[in-house]
Amino acid sequence: MAALQIHQFPCLSDNFGVLIHDPATGMTASIDVPDAEPVRQALAAKGWKLTHILVTHHHADHTQGVLPLKSQTGCTVIGPKNEAAKIKGLDRTVGGGDSFDFGGARVEVLDTPGHTAGHITFYIPSAKVAFVGDTLFAIGCGRVIEGTPEMMWESLSRLAKLPGDTTIYCGHEYTQSNARFALGIEPGNAALVARAAEVDKLRAAGKPTLPTRLDVELETNPFLRPHIAAIRKQLGMETAADWEVFAEIRERKNRG
Ligand code: ZN
Ligand code: FE
Repeated sequence: MAALQIHQFPCLSDNFGVLIHDPATGMTASIDVPDAEPVRQALAAKGWKLTHILVTHHHADHTQGVLPLKSQTGCTVIGPKNEAAKIKGLDRTVGGGDSFDFGGARVEVLDTPGHTAGHITFYIPSAKVAFVGDTLFAIGCGRVIEGTPEMMWESLSRLAKLPGDTTIYCGHEYTQSNARFALGIEPGNAALVARAAEVDKLRAAGKPTLPTRLDVELETNPFLRPHIAAIRKQLGMETAADWEVFAEIRERKNRG
């Protein structure tokens, strides 16, 4: 079975569009549709015909292109059942534990609420890839808008348990500011210091810092590291629960 092909490109000011394509069947999915026109252009450039849209959550910068693309292509739209009422054009709703076939691959759905109440992640084990929307970012995580910090921590913990070599596609290019913030939380993390320099270099060259890999995030992303002693000490939270340390880091990021 030929491997899935994945194409990432910038959309709006700091969103990403992502297309996944199964060469054997010609099936092509857009992960969210931040904006219909750049997604249409990317499809044309690749010569791929859209068959599916996979929606991670209801926010406009992930869904506003869904209806225009659906009406042009007749594609099938699959999205989160726990916030289905907020998304127009859904043909099928899915939630944690569900899975479906995409070409020769199996797509597993994980519930990752917190940023929104019904946010989901699409995970394809055979391709070692996860599309996490606005739950996890490179060196960061999404704002907890509709859920609670405990809920968001549980979602991030779920993602953290995926295999370390899983490639992670995120909704936004926020890495450089995330890195600056993370250095204040864990200044002694040599891997983070090195990565922050690498991120600066990529951004200076106008290149994306994504996708990322889960093992890299586990080493450098403070939002996945509330159990680390140096971070707890830095925050004066040596005896707190992991989710409380996570909540404090998230709170500081909101203020900063
Ligand atoms: Zn969002
Ligand atoms: Fe977003």
